[in-house]
Amino acid sequence: MKKTKTLLILGSTGSIGRQSLDVAEKQGYKVDTIAAGSNYRELELQARKLSVKSAALFDEDAAKKLKENLADTDIKVYGGESGIEEAIMSSGADTAVNAIVGLAGLKPTLSCIRSKKKLALANKETLVAGGDIVKAEAKKYGVDILPVDSEHSAIFQCLQGQPPERRLKKIILTASGGPFFGMKKKDLENVTIKQALKNPNWSMGAKITVDSASMFNKGLELIEAVRLFDVSYDMVKIVVHRESIVHSAVMYEDNAVIAQLGLPDMRIPIQYALTYPDRCESPVGELDLASLGKLTFFEPDYDTFECISICKNAIKEGGLMPAAVNSANEEANSLFREGKIKFTDIPVLIKKASELIENKSDFDADDIFSIDKSVRENVRRLV
Ligand code: NAD
Ligand code: MG
Repeated sequence: MKKTKTLLILGSTGSIGRQSLDVAEKQGYKVDTIAAGSNYRELELQARKLSVKSAALFDEDAAKKLKENLADTDIKVYGGESGIEEAIMSSGADTAVNAIVGLAGLKPTLSCIRSKKKLALANKETLVAGGDIVKAEAKKYGVDILPVDSEHSAIFQCLQGQPPERRLKKIILTASGGPFFGMKKKDLENVTIKQALKNPNWSMGAKITVDSASMFNKGLELIEAVRLFDVSYDMVKIVVHRESIVHSAVMYEDNAVIAQLGLPDMRIPIQYALTYPDRCESPVGELDLASLGKLTFFEPDYDTFECISICKNAIKEGGLMPAAVNSANEEANSLFREGKIKFTDIPVLIKKASELIENKSDFDADDIFSIDKSVRENVRRLV
């Protein structure tokens, strides 16, 4: 495996992006390219601080402003979807962190793979919607995909040192349960955006925080685990663990369970994806079990948090269904954040909008984007 020396960071202005920059600084990695959606002010500050080779923004108007602001430098500025692709293809980085939110990360993921960069992948929507395509491309180009999501990093760590016929029996995927743990469906009727944006243990971007509240995030992670570790969906057991100290675990054939623990801080999994198989000193503090006293675990409430079963059914059905529920959720999640629908409308809309698609088992990236378009339209029509 290539050792990380120079990084490309996609989504550098977001929660994972900024924490990746922090890890990069502490590890002494050079960052040669950064990209984001539209925040040209923050991208300018990052570009100057890091003296990057190139900076790219998805939003063309924001990219124009960035170009004007960086006119006194040699930094090359790219704009639009094609600009992000160009920035990736011309980057000299050996490793890419993809911390873009949503399906918007799929094309950049494929560009990173095609330019043979080792991929530290936080963008779970990419794997959920386009898992097989992404994996086939990674195999074709000989690119390693390292998980950044804390649960998947934990599982990956628990799988180290096992023989190829590892006799894995179960993956135990932990979930914080979000801010609405313990509530029933009727209690969720009138929850507010502000309440949904409060995760008990993690500080994250808005979309994933709402996904954690609806537990759609855990559904996405179930599919992510299936994709990353080549297991059947029914081997993934979800358990609510309020403290977010046990980041996930695996059970082997002999019922031995191996878990990975640590403080809830994304810089541990981000760093491991970049230094793997090495372990280096971390900016995150030590875990002190005695001071925690106890850890708690609960069965998820599948009736209240229907999004988990929606995702489970989608991976069971396969084909384009995981992509369809992901896109329906992206649309419903943003409508909720815009105050246009109720929290409890989210699962209803996802189910109705994805039921309308014509599924197929053989598909390419273009099919995913056309499903994305039609499912989003379905959601908006249903509102
Ligand atoms: P965020 O909203 O804080 O940041 C998203 C980043 O993506 C921003 O830099 C934004 O500018 C950029 N972006 C948005 N649309 C874009 C586009 N079309 N092209 C290029 N860039 C675009 O989100 P986040 O919390 O950092 O999450 C990023 C990804 O990591 C998500 O897929 C999320 O599920 C995953 N993840 C996040 C966490 C966490 O702790 N935040 C943990 C695990 C996994
Ligand atoms: Mg996670």
